[in-house]
Amino acid sequence: MFQGISKFTSLCVWAAVLRAIIDGWTTHSRMQRRSRCLFGCGCGQDSIQHYAFCSVLADLARRKLGLEIPEPRTRLDEFLMLEPRFTVDQSSWFARCALLIYATFKATNAARDGQGMDTSDAWQQAFKEGAASRRDLGFLIGHA
Ligand SMILES: [Zn+2]
Repeated sequence: MFQGISKFTSLCVWAAVLRAIIDGWTTHSRMQRRSRCLFGCGCGQDSIQHYAFCSVLADLARRKLGLEIPEPRTRLDEFLMLEPRFTVDQSSWFARCALLIYATFKATNAARDGQGMDTSDAWQQAFKEGAASRRDLGFLIGHA
């Protein structure tokens, strides 16, 4: 997966994916603090584990990236792009998943930093920035 994805993602997108896999986001949960989901779904904490299941994020992923939400049993692994195994035939799917992670990383960081923007709006802005960060990536998701 690492070699395949690194061929079409920009460094900033790739870094967000790697940090998600190693639980390297500065979520409140990871910092041993309690905080509600920053997307405002009302059903979870500020944690990577929750964002894989967040209904607000699932709606953004469906509408903006055309991603179908996997069944609960595999959802966290698919959110983190650990399942299924990478194949070149599925490059578009992996590109969309990488952008989902990148936009979520950027939007939640902005919310934690108190930048005052609605988290869903920040997600959409970060999604556009991520798609524009490398031509191959924008092409794979149809935003070239
Ligand atoms: Zn949520």
